Amino acid sequence: MEKINKVSVPMREQSPSERIKNFKSVPLGYSEEEAKTEAQRCLQCPDPVCEAECPVSIKIKDMIKEIGDGNFKEAFLIAKRDNPVPAIAGRVCPQEDQCEGVCTMKNIGDPINIGKLEAFIADWAMENKVTEEINIKDKKEKVAIVGSGPAGISCAADLRKLGYQVSLFEALHKAGGVLQYGIPAFRLPKEIVEEELSCLEDMGVDIQLNRIVGQNVTCDALMDDYDAVFIGTGAGAPKFLGIKGEKLMGAYSANEFLIRTNLMKSYKFPEYDTPIIVGDKVAVIGAGNVAMDAARCAIREGAKEVYIVYRRTINEAPARNEEIHHAIEEGIKMLELVNPVEILGNEDGWVSGLELQKMKLGEEDSSGRPRPVPIENSNYRMEFDTVIEALGTIPNRLFLSKTTYLKKDPRDRILVEHNLVTNIQNVYAGGDAVRGNATVILALGDGRKAAASIHKYLGEKANAQTIF
Ligand SMILES: Cc1cc2nc3c(=O)[nH]c(=O)nc-3n(C[C@H](O)[C@H](O)[C@H](O)COP(=O)(O)OP(=O)(O)OC[C@H]3O[C@@H](n4cnc5c(N)ncnc54)[C@H](O)[C@@H]3O)c2cc1C
Repeated sequence: MEKINKVSVPMREQSPSERIKNFKSVPLGYSEEEAKTEAQRCLQCPDPVCEAECPVSIKIKDMIKEIGDGNFKEAFLIAKRDNPVPAIAGRVCPQEDQCEGVCTMKNIGDPINIGKLEAFIADWAMENKVTEEINIKDKKEKVAIVGSGPAGISCAADLRKLGYQVSLFEALHKAGGVLQYGIPAFRLPKEIVEEELSCLEDMGVDIQLNRIVGQNVTCDALMDDYDAVFIGTGAGAPKFLGIKGEKLMGAYSANEFLIRTNLMKSYKFPEYDTPIIVGDKVAVIGAGNVAMDAARCAIREGAKEVYIVYRRTINEAPARNEEIHHAIEEGIKMLELVNPVEILGNEDGWVSGLELQKMKLGEEDSSGRPRPVPIENSNYRMEFDTVIEALGTIPNRLFLSKTTYLKKDPRDRILVEHNLVTNIQNVYAGGDAVRGNATVILALGDGRKAAASIHKYLGEKANAQTIF
């Protein structure tokens, strides 16, 4: 019997001391030999549990088999069939909670590095100019998609492959949603985002940038002009603590900080005309992926000390383990069991520090984590030059205010049936606009599900028209 290799092939990375000086990708990718060795560890389970955990249903077992055999083109085509953006998903999906989390190899050693293998074959295809050949048979029905994040991207790709005339409306001057403006380039290089999105244009999706639905085009007009509409507007509005001092100079929401950094390229100032002021000592409030991204950007933009300020302990932090690990390696400090009660300012109106209250862990709350309980008379102050709030986001106000006829829940998430149709029969929705803060892969999965539902709806409508 062949010996089972229990240890995964590590991926080479830029060293922490080097990478905090640049925005280049931290992981350096697998070589062909490394990818084959990692793939050959796969047990090729008769019942691949990893696939059941993938929200876009990639045939993971077959993809890995082809990589192990050195058939990289075949492996790429398998991934691409179910996921229009494998290079992106391979880099940012929380695989540890999905495919890799249930990998059978975990029982005896390291799980297979499925995400890294997915990114490897997608990068290999880009380098070798291998693309998916698609034979599109055009249909006359038109579908409008609002928002070009992962939900909009996968919905557009699937509908176009089925032959529909697809127009994608995006408020910003670049497509990609959070992939473009939120996740920093050292985790997700923007050339990769551009390259994977170019397949939409190659397929004939009409991408309309700088088009804010609700402002320079109405949703009602889309409902009239198109046979169906998909809403993938995400949840891009920041939440705030609502404490004193949030309007001081030097206090940012993570959204503003990350948009300035990633979309407006403040880190390339003066080449790009968007400066950003990051002081010597930065506090980032929150401990999710967004907080880790903001902290890691701040250190690259010249901060000398960066703290994650969190009311629980880092064991309860919602960020991916990999992000926490990378942040700690880069010198980010974790300030646990404290809650900011005020952002302090100086006489010139700039941030000068935080007043913090100490916390302890209590009983489990509805999130399944211990509740942070304030400790009385424990307040103290710490000096900071910059404070970034990374407390999660909610759906955008503008779109909601112009579509009051769409049913929403009390947290302003659009309500949908199981097939992602809203209360309007030809309007579908998915991704963060429906789920609140979720993940790239869940948004990609929703886009695919909505595309299938729209196809069914338009097919049934066409049949009814033929009969009557
Ligand atoms: C900083 C950050 C880091 C993250 N890291 C990870 C990670 O590592 N892994 C992970 O899985 N998830 C991560 N997430 C979450 C993930 O990015 C989101 O769950 C996902 O992008 C949601 O996709 P979406 O398509 O629903 O929305 P979005 O990606 O938000 O895209 C919505 C798009 O709609 C556009 N839009 C909004 N309103 C309008 C309008 N009225 N008209 C036209 N266009 C409009 C927006 O400009 C945007 O481009 C992160 C999120 C952030 C903010």
